[in-house]
Amino acid sequence: MKTINDFNFEDKKALIRVDFNVPLNDEFKVTDDTRIQSAKSTIIKILEDGGSCVLMSHLGRPKGVDEKFSLQHIVDKVSEVIGVQVKFVNDCVGASVEEAVANLKNGEILLLENLRFHGEEKAGDKAFAEQLSKLGDIYVNDAFGTAHRAHASTAVVAQFFPEKKCFGHLLAKEIESIDKVLNNSEKPVLAVLGGAKVSSKITVIENILDKVDHLIIGGGMTFTFIKAQGGKVGDSICEDDKMDLALEILEKAKAKNVQIHIPVDVVAANAFDNNAETQIADVMAIPDNWQGLDAGPKSLANFEEVVNQCKTILWNGPLGVFEMESFAKGTIALGNYIDNATKNGAFSLVGGGDSVAAVKQFGFADKVSYVSTGGGAMLESLEGKVLPGIDAILN
Ligand code: AMP
Repeated sequence: MKTINDFNFEDKKALIRVDFNVPLNDEFKVTDDTRIQSAKSTIIKILEDGGSCVLMSHLGRPKGVDEKFSLQHIVDKVSEVIGVQVKFVNDCVGASVEEAVANLKNGEILLLENLRFHGEEKAGDKAFAEQLSKLGDIYVNDAFGTAHRAHASTAVVAQFFPEKKCFGHLLAKEIESIDKVLNNSEKPVLAVLGGAKVSSKITVIENILDKVDHLIIGGGMTFTFIKAQGGKVGDSICEDDKMDLALEILEKAKAKNVQIHIPVDVVAANAFDNNAETQIADVMAIPDNWQGLDAGPKSLANFEEVVNQCKTILWNGPLGVFEMESFAKGTIALGNYIDNATKNGAFSLVGGGDSVAAVKQFGFADKVSYVSTGGGAMLESLEGKVLPGIDAILN
């Protein structure tokens, strides 16, 4: 695996695909700069080598040129985070951009305008990718958030740098972390899968059954498994058309010697509301008109025991409706167990979908070994897919 550490960037222009798809407020100010912070180490290494950086990214989902999605809005924030005044050019291909790149000196950074102002970016257009390729000597992919997309800047452009392409520090760290959980893991390995629906996690479950010793299934998925086994789930979220699949998963897990842990009790509410009445219910006997919205105390005690035994932990998806304070306790408790396990030497990776939001909201981001920066890309990795952005560098 080639990373930027395998290159000396002295007098070289690095064309770097970053993921600066950051949230902006009504005044177009960056409200969360995590993604910019995440690219810092790659940019600094290249500048310290004596090279320069041409940064390319998308922002939002513009349909053509749209001022609202201009990367100009983030120039000051990027300059502040990196500590170097960043230059900006108001397109990402063409003569004016090539001129700006030609004028770029060692130690300088140039940010290109939003790649998605050109439809060719998402289409993975080869001619567009070739135009991009003129903007650097070495291609660096450091955008995990878009690594599952075969777009011009994330994958197609790599073919124009047969010997001079590599991963940035962030993308390398993501790849290593996934590898540490799925392939080179210290046993016992635990995956905690929560979240809303079985249907969105099914491929992940099927893939990781070959990789883990323990699987905790929590969140809204619980109830499809419980109803499939004859339980009464009341008004809880449940996918009736996935019940056969749930039973199949349980069978497969048994055959593969994977221990499955499902909540035995839940915090049930009489409405999907933070102020609803609640009671602790046996997961197999949730009263009519009540719905399970969080894991109950007995379940949490079981989960704590499992987490404590494991040396590798993957966490994807909350244990309850964590957005409401009344149903966040299970997710917070799980975060604490994983925090403890990590302190005792376990490797813990959080990623995919909403898990990152939950982990950040409750202050666990610094307490686990690694928090992935890519929701969709992480899920696809866990599904066992080869991501185009990674494949384009490796092959
Ligand atoms: P996902 O994106 O699949 O990880 O799902 C995250 C969502 O699952 C969050 O918005 C949670 O509120 C939701 N969720 C977790 N547990 C439950 C539950 N018991 N009932 C309904 N929604 C849930």
